Amino acid sequence: MTTERKITNLPDLISGLPSADRAVAERIFDVSATTGRLDPPEAMRAWIEKSFGSTGRVTAQRIVKVTNRITLEGTLFNELRASRPLDTGVSLDLEREIAATEGDPFCLPQDGTPADVFGRVEGEHATTASNIAKYDGFHGVIVFDDHNPLHLTPEKVAGYVSVGLEWGRKALETDPEARYPFLMWNCLWRAGGSIIHGHAQVTATRVSHYPKVERLRRAASAYKREHGSGYFGDLARVHASLGLDIPLEGVRAFASLSPIKEKEIVAIGDEPTDASLSRAVGALLQGYVGDLGVRAFNVAFYMPPLGPTREDWSDFPTVVYIVDRGDPANRTSDIGAMELYAASVVASDPFRVAEALRSDLPA
Ligand SMILES: [Zn+2]
Repeated sequence: MTTERKITNLPDLISGLPSADRAVAERIFDVSATTGRLDPPEAMRAWIEKSFGSTGRVTAQRIVKVTNRITLEGTLFNELRASRPLDTGVSLDLEREIAATEGDPFCLPQDGTPADVFGRVEGEHATTASNIAKYDGFHGVIVFDDHNPLHLTPEKVAGYVSVGLEWGRKALETDPEARYPFLMWNCLWRAGGSIIHGHAQVTATRVSHYPKVERLRRAASAYKREHGSGYFGDLARVHASLGLDIPLEGVRAFASLSPIKEKEIVAIGDEPTDASLSRAVGALLQGYVGDLGVRAFNVAFYMPPLGPTREDWSDFPTVVYIVDRGDPANRTSDIGAMELYAASVVASDPFRVAEALRSDLPA
């Protein structure tokens, strides 16, 4: 009998892998399942049935805990939440709200935004500005030509990324110590974006990379020492062996087994400048918005430094994370104490996410 491919069956799905794939899966991930039980009063039953379909699904809830043993990132998946249908509804109000802010300073960046000390990088789809209240010594904004951040295409996204990377090279020319670049995109309020007009951000930092990037480098390097095998290749292999990969040219992309929050996608490419990587990120984002109905999302590029360093980055690829931050109409934050201090609690099933994003790809 084949096991249905869903996250709450992950322990069985891993047990059913060919032994070599299973060994890699088990050295990266600890997976365990438990059942949470409760006893609802009679008065609640009608409401439970209306909200969740049946009382039985609530009185015994299967929860799967996935821990990445290498990075110590971890996620709790709850079947009760995971089995709810993905909402792909398009909100017309949001489109209207975005349109209502047209004519903002980012619509005319030459007049509405400051330039960096090294000037602006101008590309086909975006222009850079200097961030007015900086995260770090170098902090730029990639101002998209499009006001509406959701009107994205793979070509436009590749353009945004290439402008951001050129900005990183300019920062390095200005200060040879600012060799650690970081590129991020906070789309709409729930993702931390304060300005609606489409924009991403770039920083360049000194001394060492941002701690979360450095932590991943150290974890991958320890993995290589211990197992003689590349961490990122093995991570992609585990996801592909389970059917979580999203085939796209030039990258290894997959719906993550230890997502930081809803519907997290990881895309691993060789060089940050590789256009097929940024186009793949654009294709994934297009699927995110079009197929999965995501409106607010974060994107982060983990990249090796642009200049020589004491620590070894030779095996570090470019790793791109994409995560859904929830419905803009919802007032409740998606991040609470669990996510900040314990483990992420996630409702979306990575198997459904991979399926939805694959469905659109050219065969
Ligand atoms: Zn605008």
